[in-house]
Amino acid sequence: MSYNIAIDGPAGAGKSTIAKKLAKDLSFVYVDTGAMYRALAIFFIRKGFAAEDESGISDAVKDANVSIEYVNGEQQVILNGENVTPILRTEEVGNMASASSVYKAVRAHLLELQRSLAASKDVIMDGRDIGTCILPNADLKIFLTATSAERARRRCEELKQKGENADYEKIKKDIEERDYRDSHREIAPLKQAEDAIYLDSSDLNIDEVVERIKSYIK
Ligand code: C5P
Repeated sequence: MSYNIAIDGPAGAGKSTIAKKLAKDLSFVYVDTGAMYRALAIFFIRKGFAAEDESGISDAVKDANVSIEYVNGEQQVILNGENVTPILRTEEVGNMASASSVYKAVRAHLLELQRSLAASKDVIMDGRDIGTCILPNADLKIFLTATSAERARRRCEELKQKGENADYEKIKKDIEERDYRDSHREIAPLKQAEDAIYLDSSDLNIDEVVERIKSYIK
């Protein structure tokens, strides 16, 4: 049997940084489900869909084949044969991912891929609905969050380090809008699973969060 750890939480809470480090320390496979929604978002943007076009997006999604590969332990997302990993993390793609992930057909398209990865391997999977919907029987569930001000601050730092412009107020507003959409959508909303451990990382550094989670592993 594989051991599954689910980490859910809002945008910018540090899920991917924490999950990657944990996976390395524990020799688990890290599965970033947000990256899969982002790959689909690239497909929709390239097709010229408006985010509001539910019927067009729902119809087109069947033509988007998303798969996962690992290169030196790093997850690569393949969209119809193209490795789109280097272009996943822009605000435009993030906003389209957030808007299109509310649609039933979009979520259904990724469900089996996510479950099958966890069935065969020890995984740390991060997302919004992993503990509540994708892996309801995960061995450990963490709900990782931080205040929106702290999450916006971290995102600005990340952009500045890449030499990109960072508008704090705009980023904070985008984060809050995304939180609202993720937690108010009808299907698989972002919410803490009843059996998840709540962890606020606002005042903790990466190593402190990683050690805290390790202490919960049985
Ligand atoms: O985590 P990340 O910011 O990469 O995710 C992009 C978007 O994909 C999120 O804003 C969220 O709306 C959506 N998502 C989701 N369910 C997941 C992972 C991500 O709806 N399991």
